Amino acid sequence: MMGYDALLFSEPDDGQMVKIALAQGRTVITRDTGFMQRRAVTSGRVQALLLKDSEPLKQMRDIIGILHLSNEYKPFTRCLECNTELHYAEKTGIAQMVPPRVFEKQEQYMACPLCGRIFWRGTHWQAMKKKLYDFSRPPENPGE
Ligand SMILES: [Zn+2]
Repeated sequence: MMGYDALLFSEPDDGQMVKIALAQGRTVITRDTGFMQRRAVTSGRVQALLLKDSEPLKQMRDIIGILHLSNEYKPFTRCLECNTELHYAEKTGIAQMVPPRVFEKQEQYMACPLCGRIFWRGTHWQAMKKKLYDFSRPPENPGE
């Protein structure tokens, strides 16, 4: 959502994740304390961030704070499905690819050159924009 190059790793083999992190210069973000004990991590060859909180909003605040990310970096410039950078799409070329009522209302579209998904600033986009805003707000203090 924020426009950062991110890769979801869902295979069970951590060794493969280490290889990819090294080859691509990625920081591993994990909830797995065991992963943090791997030699590649303790030696500093692979950068890894252990998330201690299970709540997504707190996790995002930790990631943004610790990695010094900006939540307004390049929002909505990458495909949410496959991580590829999006391109602006001509409205005339996508009439058949979006619902008619969307096509009527929306003027600007982004397209993924890899998986072909089309994105526009609809209600889902507005909900995500609010999420990005929430990431930047300081945590609420329930005691006050
Ligand atoms: Zn895509």
